[in-house]
Amino acid sequence: MNLDIETDYAWQMIRFACNACDLPNLADKIHLGWSNGFTRALGKAGKHKGQYRIRFAHRSWPSLTTEVKKNIIIHEACHIIVLEIHGSHEGHPHGKKWQWYMHKCGENPMRIIPRCLTPNLKVQRKKMVKLMHIVHVE
Ligand SMILES: [Zn+2]
Repeated sequence: MNLDIETDYAWQMIRFACNACDLPNLADKIHLGWSNGFTRALGKAGKHKGQYRIRFAHRSWPSLTTEVKKNIIIHEACHIIVLEIHGSHEGHPHGKKWQWYMHKCGENPMRIIPRCLTPNLKVQRKKMVKLMHIVHVE
């Protein structure tokens, strides 16, 4: 996996989401990283030491399609957007507010993917998994 290319793509999608939600300056406040330690998540978003942070699962990334990566990146960006606008995840992190921003970005919040796309993750033994359940907030 070419990390520079994947990082560039992630930034493009984060900027796209911030722009779509009328927060063009928000992307500059986000720190982006990759983790080798995620065993149950493809991505995580939250606040770390006062700064917004999004991280993706380095080991799982190469097996994902571009379309799925896009959904995951925007999924995480929308968590940060909810944090920025409302100050918290507002109860359920995948509740109505988060779903509303996902729709605003043109993404399906309930996106389902085949389990075989995530060979490195310890997730339920179902054939299909909801992305929402393997992309977490910190
Ligand atoms: Zn989430």
